[in-house]
Amino acid sequence: MHAFSKLPFDEKLIYINGRWTESSSTQTTNVENPDTADIIAVVPECTAGDLDQAVQAAYTAFHDGPWVNEFSGAQRRDAMLALADAIEKSRGEIELIESINTGKPITDVRGELDDTIDLFRHFAGYADKVEGRHISAQNNSSLEGYTVKVPVGVVGFINAFNYPICLLAWKVAPALAAGCTVVFKPGPQTPLTTQYFAHLLDSTNKFPPGVFNVVLGGATVGQALVDHDLIDKIGFTGSVATGKHVIRSTASTRNVRSTSVELGGKSPGVVMPDVDLDKTAKLVVSGCMSNAGMNCNALTRLWVHRSIYDDFIPCLKAAAESLKLGTPQQNDTEMGPLIDHRQYQRVLEYIRIGKEEDKASVLTGGEPALGRGYWIQPTLFYNVDPKARIATEEIFGPVLSVLEPFDSLDEVIEIERKNEFGLAAGIFSHNHQDIAKFTRKLRSGTIWVNNYNTLYSYLPFGGFRNSGFGRELGYESFDGYLVPKAIIDDVSF
Ligand code: NAD
Repeated sequence: MHAFSKLPFDEKLIYINGRWTESSSTQTTNVENPDTADIIAVVPECTAGDLDQAVQAAYTAFHDGPWVNEFSGAQRRDAMLALADAIEKSRGEIELIESINTGKPITDVRGELDDTIDLFRHFAGYADKVEGRHISAQNNSSLEGYTVKVPVGVVGFINAFNYPICLLAWKVAPALAAGCTVVFKPGPQTPLTTQYFAHLLDSTNKFPPGVFNVVLGGATVGQALVDHDLIDKIGFTGSVATGKHVIRSTASTRNVRSTSVELGGKSPGVVMPDVDLDKTAKLVVSGCMSNAGMNCNALTRLWVHRSIYDDFIPCLKAAAESLKLGTPQQNDTEMGPLIDHRQYQRVLEYIRIGKEEDKASVLTGGEPALGRGYWIQPTLFYNVDPKARIATEEIFGPVLSVLEPFDSLDEVIEIERKNEFGLAAGIFSHNHQDIAKFTRKLRSGTIWVNNYNTLYSYLPFGGFRNSGFGRELGYESFDGYLVPKAIIDDVSF
């Protein structure tokens, strides 16, 4: 039974060169509702031939089309603003599809659509503000040097499954504002809002053919995208293992290309003795359990000061047990299921490892939930060795490791400097010296103080170490889609 009979596009087609086209493949991917494990749509699994068509379209649009060669920055800005308006008009339907396809609570998806629309408007504002530098001539020289910034070219994007429309906006909005053309591959589990986005972009009639193209599928088409000779930049979001493979691949292509990789995390949080315990426990639990823990910056390693440890543990338990699990499309649902059977099994395996190999104590949860789909209870372990597997490996599920109590912040900082990841961290404290020490010494792309998970269009996001390199959001991400050319002019000639 087809759950989306009213979709305004045919999900069996792919959007290439401004047209909805049949894939050359007979292979398909089943798209599920993780709440129930029902199949809600069937989409094509693209071939290397489909990918080649998409890249050729983006290449021609970049080198010969009007987007880069005729449009002013202001025209690109207006196209992006029209696209933001189109998303806003259809947001109710997009939110429903996103919630059904990902299992995210509908209230969370509404926030993600707010961000998506804001991102297109925010980056539209940069489209007419591409600036170079003038470098003063040397003493009495007739030479004038200056830079002009040009779009990097054809960008191939590979997305993770966990924030389909929102991460698409993180990537596509700055790239389009800079004047790039795009081939976009969503996570194979969550293609529907990417196709919806292509439909809306098409409906504005403001983006020339080939500026934005979509291919669907998994590793095979993703690898073909990374390997294609006409790609100028790869923007990847996903796991460390795939990210490292992508980096190696981009070094083996005929032309090397710039790469930005946003990878995993095992983000620490620190609770100092001077905070309100209940309030902090709620922030910690939502910092970990948001998006059912399938969040690259999820707070999954928690340090609690010894002097409050025994009082804080019951507050955490109460906060986790009060989370409302239920049909994601209901307004009061606070946590959804895992994305698919593979992720569900992976999380259950880590819970087993926590109990049997790491010998950690379960504070709450640790079992499947609701008796359907891919649900797992919010799970808290405590007294966990900081070197245990559940405390050091990315689980990507609703599992928090409360580490053994600590005595000094210096000790925590020393250990966290060796954390494999460096995407995010949090500290809860009223002591300015502690906060300053933590924020200065920790090498993390984002550090939250007395809050967690808040992100803005204008602040850069990205990692250190195995969390990747490159930045999304903010001016930094826009600048990542531009390259400077140096011009040296002999004005006396
Ligand atoms: P994944 O690595 O399994 O897949 C990511 C993407 O890569 C998918 O689109 C997949 O089809 C594609 N892919 C797989 N093999 C490929 C290959 N050989 N060549 C090219 N592409 C290939 O990751 P996932 O399970 O989709 O996402 C979860 C991971 O993403 C977690 O580790 C999470 O931390 C990370 N993530 C990071 C950020 C961030 O901003 N740092 C944001 C969201 C998710």
